[in-house]
Amino acid sequence: MNKTHRLCLVLGDQLSFDLASLAGLDREQDRVLLVEVMEEASHVAHHPQKIALIFSAMRHFAQALKDQGFRVHYVTLDDPHNSGSVPGELKRWQALLQAKEVHLTECGDWRLEQSLKDCGLPIHWHADNRFLCSRDEFRAWAAGKKQLRMEFFYREMRRKSRLLLNGDGTPVGGAWNFDADNRKALPKTVKAPYPAGFTNDAITLEVLALVKERFASHYGSLDDFNYPVTHADAQALWAYFLDYGLAGFGDYQDAMASNEPFLFHARISAALNIGLLDLRQLCSDVESAYWSGSIALNAAEGFIRQLIGWREYVRGVYWLHMPEYAEGNAFGNTRRLPEFYWTGDTQMKCMRQAIGQSLKHAYAHHIQRLMVTGNFALLAGISPSQICEWYLAIYMDAFDWVELPNTLGMVMHADGGYLGSKPYCASGQYINRMSDYCRDCAYSVRETTADNACPFNALYWHFLMRHGDLLRGNQRMGMMYKNLDRMPLEKQQALWQRGQSLLDRLDRGESL
Ligand code: SF4
Repeated sequence: MNKTHRLCLVLGDQLSFDLASLAGLDREQDRVLLVEVMEEASHVAHHPQKIALIFSAMRHFAQALKDQGFRVHYVTLDDPHNSGSVPGELKRWQALLQAKEVHLTECGDWRLEQSLKDCGLPIHWHADNRFLCSRDEFRAWAAGKKQLRMEFFYREMRRKSRLLLNGDGTPVGGAWNFDADNRKALPKTVKAPYPAGFTNDAITLEVLALVKERFASHYGSLDDFNYPVTHADAQALWAYFLDYGLAGFGDYQDAMASNEPFLFHARISAALNIGLLDLRQLCSDVESAYWSGSIALNAAEGFIRQLIGWREYVRGVYWLHMPEYAEGNAFGNTRRLPEFYWTGDTQMKCMRQAIGQSLKHAYAHHIQRLMVTGNFALLAGISPSQICEWYLAIYMDAFDWVELPNTLGMVMHADGGYLGSKPYCASGQYINRMSDYCRDCAYSVRETTADNACPFNALYWHFLMRHGDLLRGNQRMGMMYKNLDRMPLEKQQALWQRGQSLLDRLDRGESL
């Protein structure tokens, strides 16, 4: 075999034609390597649909690169020579091809990047320029700050990208953030668009069969696989959202409704996170939709903020503070994750809906993740590492750089408030306001201490009581503690007892 000059390893979440490490490859002398490995598919029990998405998208991407003239080597999971790990395959192929140089774009997972750095090969690392803010740029912005705030970072990114800015650098509409307009519940008369569908081609069908056979023990169904696996299909999903979803996304992005898993959400996060869509193009399309008058400013700004604000911000935090960030446990939580997170077997309608659709579609939208499953984990004092593993495993779009800060920092406040200024804790009243779940729940959202009282209610007060030492000094928690302090002592005691009995039931392995 002729000697190869450059060997470029492309990971399963790096399926972008303009990936930095692909630029400058000589299509004659250089090689591209893609590998399906058991270690990445099973270091947590990833949802089978997520494994299928990544493998199928990788196979389609490899074919597209070949069609463009690249010399590509592809290792399937069932290849008898497959060593099972990314570093193992990289070493094997470097030796086989006698490659002089190995090139790689920064990973999305600290664990994997570290294992590659430790594998004994000198690697030429390329910054991942698919993001707006580089790791170094974020580090410089965060330097000297005790606490970070997304809002200030987001303004920097607006200035940098010049999205939704007036000529003088001020924000369009006179404010940077229109989040207050994005919190409407869904009226009965408003119908969400039926989501776009995709047909599985021969490559995807082959992958689905492989995943079904090899990952039968992982939680989640393969039956409803309906995700784009090529750049063209991802564009089609995006175009569908621009036409049918975006206008309603602003108003109803926090709303939840029974048996409506997607509402006005784009469902593009998985495609974006594996490289099938381009961040800058998405933002530019949304801005154009605003200037063309087809969507309101709160919809455009809210969407752009998710992408260049929150998404870039959590990535920055991740790379700034790994690996110690993963150890955060400010409340000292140790409770085991209840079994019903893996089955949906609970009487709580909101949890059953959020978990059920997560098992069925590997998807739940951000408020279901933050204010239902996340809120419950926070109030119930679940071990941060266990709930982080659940989110990483169950969601199609969950990669460590985005999942860990979102779950450990935002959901669990386990970083002590570094990433978010207060815990997102709420009683059942919030869920009742933003959804129709409570109408036919086995529990009553109006009750607080009765046997049929909504578990979120007593757990909310129990959470505030047991963490008063850490949270009473937080100005943003002032109103909550004022409400607690105004309650008669007997009421506080009854709430504590009800909350404790619910926690005891969880400790006995019972469902709620
Ligand atoms: Fe969820 Fe409580 Fe409402 Fe039931 S009553 S759906 S448990 S918030």
